Amino acid sequence: MPSAADRRQHILNEIAKAAALAKRDPADVQLIAVSKGRSAEEIEALIEAGQRDFGENRVQEASAKWPALLARHPHVRLHEIGQLQSNKAAEAVKLFDVLHSVDRPSLLGALVRESEKAGHHPPVYVQVNIGEEEQKGGCAIGEVGALVEAVRQSALPLAGLMAIPPLGVEPAPYFALLAKIARRHDVAGLSIGMSGDFKAAVMLGATAVRIGTALFED
Ligand SMILES: *Cc1c(COP(=O)(O)O)cnc(C)c1O
Repeated sequence: MPSAADRRQHILNEIAKAAALAKRDPADVQLIAVSKGRSAEEIEALIEAGQRDFGENRVQEASAKWPALLARHPHVRLHEIGQLQSNKAAEAVKLFDVLHSVDRPSLLGALVRESEKAGHHPPVYVQVNIGEEEQKGGCAIGEVGALVEAVRQSALPLAGLMAIPPLGVEPAPYFALLAKIARRHDVAGLSIGMSGDFKAAVMLGATAVRIGTALFED
């Protein structure tokens, strides 16, 4: 049975192959292990294998699970990747090193205020509702420019654009569209790609892939 270290190495190899096809440097692709629903033991097996970046989609779960883990492994960087409510901004700023789901000015405002109080300014991704789906997180495509500009005017560094393509359809066109929007606004980072589609995402410019299932399950 493959170990956590084996699964991680396999994914790093696949990222390297996809990057090579696209004439990209694999070092420009950050592997984020999505650890929602995973135990401390499962997470520590990956940390021991060299994994440094982890993603969680719920502030409440992350607050319960991560402080003890971070005390033991202070070099780990924690990424917030789920929908974020403004009333969780204070907790999110305290716990996370990078925020991937900033999708409205009111949330950005709350994060800026809390980051001033905390004296800690985590980089943020602007999340885009790339399939223009109802009930999905992310700002509308037409709002990206204004939100990117608002982040640039704020004290929070802009990490890039993030998106989750619609389920059940070919994701590559959505990745390509996000990359095009990023170029239009002169944005460098792209947080795209999950277990089922990260190779396409890397070929189309992902600088961060968020992978859960393929890292934690055989
Ligand atoms: C759960 C999740 C992932 C990881 O999905 P897998 O298919 O398990 O790799 C990536 N991004 C977000 C926002 C998630 O919620």
